[in-house]
Amino acid sequence: MDKKIIIIGSGLGALASGLLLSRKGYKVEFVEKNNQAGGRLNQIKKDGFTFDTGPSFFSMSFVFKDFIEKCGLDIPFKFVELDPLYSVNFRDSNHTYHLNKDIKKLAKQFEDIEPDFEKNMEKYLKKSKQLFEDTFDIVIKNNFNSIFDYVFQLMHVNPVHIPQLFNSFYSHVQKHFSSKEAQQVISLVAFFLGRTPFDTMAIYSLLSHTEFRHDGYYNVEGGMYNIVNGLVGELEKNGAVFNYNSEIVKVEEERGKVKKVIDKEGKEYSGDVFLINADAALFRGRVLNREKYSEKKLSKMEWTMGYLTFYVGIKGKLPQLDLHNYFIGNNFEEYAKDVMHKPDTLQKPYFYVNNVSKYNPECAPVGCESLFFVCPVPNLQYKNNWDDADDIVNSILEDFSKRINQNIIPNIITKTVYTPKDWEEKFNLYQGSGLGLSHKLMQIGGLRPRNFDEEFSNMFYVGASTLPGAGLPMAVISGELAAERILKYLK
Ligand SMILES: Cc1cc2nc3c(=O)[nH]c(=O)nc-3n(C[C@H](O)[C@H](O)[C@H](O)COP(=O)(O)OP(=O)(O)OC[C@H]3O[C@@H](n4cnc5c(N)ncnc54)[C@H](O)[C@@H]3O)c2cc1C
Repeated sequence: MDKKIIIIGSGLGALASGLLLSRKGYKVEFVEKNNQAGGRLNQIKKDGFTFDTGPSFFSMSFVFKDFIEKCGLDIPFKFVELDPLYSVNFRDSNHTYHLNKDIKKLAKQFEDIEPDFEKNMEKYLKKSKQLFEDTFDIVIKNNFNSIFDYVFQLMHVNPVHIPQLFNSFYSHVQKHFSSKEAQQVISLVAFFLGRTPFDTMAIYSLLSHTEFRHDGYYNVEGGMYNIVNGLVGELEKNGAVFNYNSEIVKVEEERGKVKKVIDKEGKEYSGDVFLINADAALFRGRVLNREKYSEKKLSKMEWTMGYLTFYVGIKGKLPQLDLHNYFIGNNFEEYAKDVMHKPDTLQKPYFYVNNVSKYNPECAPVGCESLFFVCPVPNLQYKNNWDDADDIVNSILEDFSKRINQNIIPNIITKTVYTPKDWEEKFNLYQGSGLGLSHKLMQIGGLRPRNFDEEFSNMFYVGASTLPGAGLPMAVISGELAAERILKYLK
């Protein structure tokens, strides 16, 4: 049990693996490029305000519960269920939809434009439930040793779902709802996978089941970063060591095993096992110089979109906002088809606003709000120059003020902007792609970069670009899958 596991990066996947391994008695040491843990799940504290930097949705709480149970602990943060889940406002419309989990209540909001909403939604959710139940354990919660193993496992999935691999999320939703508004509101969840409902497979409509039926969304008390605080606290109790401001750029091996990793300043870390939480494709390409992940090959892979995010503290309260708020336009199809590739969409951007201080007053001074804006944008492959970021941010702030009938611009106390360039630099995200490799058919399951190294028997991977994919619950599952491999290796 005196074996030492060096973990490179301290994103959620890394923290989850680290906690499981330290609870089994192994020594765990993190090496993180930034000055605090969490990766994309991070925090800015500025001018009396507290902002979550990336994730703002806490969903699939059952994944956290299962994970923490495996660690033999209680969940080290508090969370409270939300109703409504979120709100959606269309441009030039006074109507804001509040997405209630109670389908009767939700249907009432659509009664003028889609009288059969309740029946349609029930049918849609029934299908989403089947998709969830028939795929979650087999495809999402599984390690695959080879492509053959993956194909073999897929044979256990009910073949009735095969068409959902080839239909788009949007076309699937269109089959269930007649009004454009319902189609657009229900398919928004596809954006959570970093692409659009038009290029996300219909199979991911299982997310609607997790939103409305299986679980829902939660407010994490004190903000999302308390997930990181809680996990780091438990890790430290178990003796884990955290090294910050240390970026690994080199790996030294001996007879097929990694002996040590070395950071930019020449500091060395030796261990028995190495777990990589840096992007699983990028690390293999740029640090290990693997031909399969050369710059040319990386550029040919399909990456998720970028995000322009900004964090604004204002004087005054905004009671008209929910915790999660979408502000979308009235050209959904055109916008969604262009947003990944064409900077033109930024003339009338869609955006999301998280009002964290609504339920977490400690995140803003008294009488103030702490707002976090996310605007989906082309990643650096399609828009490399972000000199216009402030103009885009100002146009969103103006649009937002109009749509909530309250001008927040004169009341701004603090503002911080992250463009995809910042996301790339801070967290080593390829071309500033917010969620890593996309989830197209050829990049999921056993076809994603593996969570074990092709050459070094003691090197493993965890995080968004390996199994199973992007999002906080997936990071936790990724942590479990990597820990399972490491435990087998160390046996
Ligand atoms: C704007 C935004 C909003 C999001 N919203 C949500 C949401 O609401 N809900 C949700 O579920 N998910 C959301 N996500 C996705 C979610 O944040 C990620 O899927 C998840 O946090 C990724 O975790 P990870 O384990 O891959 O680690 P990461 O967060 O990618 O962390 C990796 C860590 O490794 C470090 N690192 C990289 N290279 C090196 C190196 N060479 N040496 C040392 N350290 C290194 C990085 O600094 C980083 O700390 C969002 C993402 C973004 C960008």
